[in-house]
Amino acid sequence: MSILDNNAKLAAAVNDVAEVAGYLWQKGWAERNGGNITVNITDCVTDAMRAMEPITPPVPIGETLPNLRGCWFYCKGTQKRMRDLARRPMDNGSVIRICDDCASYQIMADKPVKPTSELPSHLAVHNYIIGKGLPYKASLHTHPIELVAMSHNPKFLEKDVLTKLLWSMIPETKAFAPRGLGIVPYMMPSSNELAQATIDAIADDYDVVMWEKHGVFAVETDIMNAFDQVDVLNKSANIYMCAKSMGFEPDGMTDEQMKAISTTFNLPK
Ligand SMILES: [Zn+2]
Repeated sequence: MSILDNNAKLAAAVNDVAEVAGYLWQKGWAERNGGNITVNITDCVTDAMRAMEPITPPVPIGETLPNLRGCWFYCKGTQKRMRDLARRPMDNGSVIRICDDCASYQIMADKPVKPTSELPSHLAVHNYIIGKGLPYKASLHTHPIELVAMSHNPKFLEKDVLTKLLWSMIPETKAFAPRGLGIVPYMMPSSNELAQATIDAIADDYDVVMWEKHGVFAVETDIMNAFDQVDVLNKSANIYMCAKSMGFEPDGMTDEQMKAISTTFNLPK
């Protein structure tokens, strides 16, 4: 018995998380238990789910998040591996419901797999997204190798320097990661400070944010789209590094060429 039985919409959403988890492992972005995923699945909730009894007592989130009242999430489990989640998403993650106090959650299914230690920061981001009426449902944190490598150079961390460079490597990167890459300076993983800085970057109109010397955090309408944005940005980073390893600085597309992409594809930036 699984909460995914007789709920094709929820099963499809969780299967997408599993598929993305496999890609993260294959790409080398998810060593050990690295990375985390949460997806707001409230629009998959059925009457049968609402009638379920929780399988754990309420667990405090550590903060009050008023926009999450009654919301449901699929969350990767703490200390769980993406490569295991890819094969068995309900053994390596769980479905939770936010309690009416907006300050605690209960695990609803399938097993009492404790959510990622990054849950408070992911939930704070979801709370912000709902409050602003943004369409994002999925949040992804992962360690894309080339992008993280580039974040070790301070000259790339000035606002939109890396965005412009990555966009200029190949036209599709601007088309498919059209808000670019926000930058958050190094901060302690799992800290409230890092969560707040991530929210500030989303408020500054980014949907993919680089955490210096750590990884990226992306929000999107679904987990596939979140993965795709990180993938196209990292592809550009890889092209840049390939050119550098051949011994030259790549020219990049010109400002006019990039402007034409924005006009043709009706892009926000
Ligand atoms: Zn990380």
